Amino acid sequence: MVSVSNHHQDHDEQRRKRQKIEDLSELSSSSEEKENINDHGSNVNSIEDAYLETINRFKLDFDFEKICSISLSNVNVYSCLCCGKYFQGRHDSSHAFFHSINDNHHVFINLKTLKFYILPENYEVKDTSQLEDIKYQIEPYYDGGKIKQLYSSKELASDLNHNKYRPGFIGINNINCNDYSNVIIQALSHANKLRDYLLLFKDQDSDDELIRQFSLTVKKIWSSKLFKSHISPHELLQFISKKSNGIFTLAKQKDPKDFLIWLLNNLNQSFFKNKNSKIISKLFQGKVQIESNENEKIDSKISKFWLISLDLPHSSLFKDGAGLTEVPQVSLLTLLNNKFNNEFFQGKRFKILQLPQYLILSINRFDNADSKITGISGSNRNPTVVKFPLMLDMSKYISNNAQDPIAPINYKLIGNVIYELIPSSNTTDEEKNNDKNSWKIQLLDQVRNSWLEIHNLKIREIEKELLFLNESYILIWEKM
Ligand SMILES: [Zn+2]
Ligand SMILES: [Zn+2]
Repeated sequence: MVSVSNHHQDHDEQRRKRQKIEDLSELSSSSEEKENINDHGSNVNSIEDAYLETINRFKLDFDFEKICSISLSNVNVYSCLCCGKYFQGRHDSSHAFFHSINDNHHVFINLKTLKFYILPENYEVKDTSQLEDIKYQIEPYYDGGKIKQLYSSKELASDLNHNKYRPGFIGINNINCNDYSNVIIQALSHANKLRDYLLLFKDQDSDDELIRQFSLTVKKIWSSKLFKSHISPHELLQFISKKSNGIFTLAKQKDPKDFLIWLLNNLNQSFFKNKNSKIISKLFQGKVQIESNENEKIDSKISKFWLISLDLPHSSLFKDGAGLTEVPQVSLLTLLNNKFNNEFFQGKRFKILQLPQYLILSINRFDNADSKITGISGSNRNPTVVKFPLMLDMSKYISNNAQDPIAPINYKLIGNVIYELIPSSNTTDEEKNNDKNSWKIQLLDQVRNSWLEIHNLKIREIEKELLFLNESYILIWEKM
């Protein structure tokens, strides 16, 4: 009830402001008043002030692709600050120009230069002191002091609707079927060392669109000045869809593990090519020795990895989890032991040579992950619950030729991507294809020492003792 009445007050407010402008417009169009404007400029200011009052922040949304709503061009695009729509141009007979006349909307921002203009008069607003919050929505910026605060401040932020939120722990819109990518965007933006690097990254530092879009997304996630306390990944994913030749789109579920590897590979390439920076490989890449035993001859090669995938015991494989009475459990430490026990399994032996700052472990739950996740039924899913500690000593699994044991290499769990099958309400076999795969992420809020589960726009606090009860798929650890 409260929000409804606020909403209508809003409308009334807008109407009053518009009336004021129409009055002023009439005033300025008489020849006598025009002279006054030229002499003193005071009426120009009062008209401008009245125009600025028509800005409706509730209508503004800069998460979408910056293209003209009429011509679909991405060149020279302005956002109308009264209705939020995007229009090309500013000169006479441009789409923005006609919009200003037809809809009596007068304040625009150039989405590239972030300069404000009054149309159709076509002049720049010089005093933008009251408009900085709008610029910040388009391009949030950080400095060292602000980043330091992210490690200590427990202060909640507040959006335009006075909804309180924790900066960094906000929902990401599921536009269609993109929760597989949302969980990965969330996971990477909570690797603090990468986050800090991206928050300080200046737009003009790079022509690379992937770096630009990804760092912008992370900047928005950690912003304490959001107009609404969630973001839409539309612009980033639209770009990724093109760059991946349609492999990762908004419209079709994919394996988040594949998306994670694609994103790390491409960010790594982009940073290296454009900035000569190895930030991604430095933080996320490890080294493993793979020995294969064929015909009594041992072949050895050293390989780099973004993540380590762990197999579940075969005994607990059930088709689609059907007919299950008790969900089997296994310890993560057992899975690690099985992989790095220094023995050949199916002709292969793995030795970790180098561990990264952020260690990513994935649990192989799907026989044929891609076909299952794209919605083709019939592939097997292993629902085994993997019990894991919140601290992990990896020293036991690293290759050690010396007699003395290695000092502990401790990792702290910071993120847990989980799978959930949402069964279709229809029970007939033909309708089985409507079962929905969904992906959630559980994230550690290091400042408040609590865990949050985020499923698209839904956020809830969870007990850390209950984390492992879900079907964990990707676990992200930070070296202490
Ligand atoms: Zn209304
Ligand atoms: Zn408008």
